[in-house]
Amino acid sequence: MSPPPPPIRPPPLPGNFGPPPPPSGWDKAKKFLAPLGVVGVLLLKFGAKLKFIIIPVAKFFPVILKTGGTMILSIGAYAMMWGVWFAVGFVLLIFIHELGHLLAARKCGLKVGAPVFIPFMGAIIALKEAPRNAWIEAQVGIGGPMLGTLGAAVCEMIHLATGYQLFRALAYSGFFLNLFNLAPVGFLDGGRIVTALSPWLWVVGFAVVLGLTIAHPNFILILILIFSAPRLFSLFRRKSEAERRYFEVTPGQRATMAIMYFGLIALLVIGMQISHIPRETLAGR
Ligand SMILES: [Zn+2]
Repeated sequence: MSPPPPPIRPPPLPGNFGPPPPPSGWDKAKKFLAPLGVVGVLLLKFGAKLKFIIIPVAKFFPVILKTGGTMILSIGAYAMMWGVWFAVGFVLLIFIHELGHLLAARKCGLKVGAPVFIPFMGAIIALKEAPRNAWIEAQVGIGGPMLGTLGAAVCEMIHLATGYQLFRALAYSGFFLNLFNLAPVGFLDGGRIVTALSPWLWVVGFAVVLGLTIAHPNFILILILIFSAPRLFSLFRRKSEAERRYFEVTPGQRATMAIMYFGLIALLVIGMQISHIPRETLAGR
């Protein structure tokens, strides 16, 4: 069990609460001893915290290596097994993801260029106009992973209907790709989406992702947790007037985006669980 976070105290109210009583001898001794006591308590607390920080990291590190390694190995094995057909499918899944951004941007009334393909990396869409506010940016950001997830789900359905394992391999890789893109890091789609979420929704989302990580240890979920920690703190700081206007998102829009974002993360984790092909099975083909 980790120690509860320190309570947030309201700032002291201005005003006069009456003159302090004259200090007695005992009070003077307390004044002298109090800092020593505080230092002692802090040392104890800090020591305890260090233990709490180090133990989860030590516990998680092998999980990161194991699950992260498994995912990348799986995708590598698929590429070796199906070669060019897997590559074609994977690029198509990236294209579907990018198309999702394009459709979302169009729906928001933004001018967009045609998708530009980068060999081996995928595709980008160029926005000819910057999103006007955080709500539009979040919608454009989530459009890609939403359509991308649908594309991967269609691959899984084709596998279920036909038995072709290539489609299951593509489904897994597609779920992986879209989950990775939802990590709340600046340059990924997740980074664009989370600016529309309130810090309080982040606290809820953090708990959801933490629960999901404990239930299904997953490399990307751990990355999401690590990268969202600084964001949790930065979102609480005071914003300038211009920033505040940009971040103006109605409570309804915030709730909608939070449900879509955290719901999509959960769906993608479930999708990866369903579509994963154990390597023994793969080798036996
Ligand atoms: Zn994207």
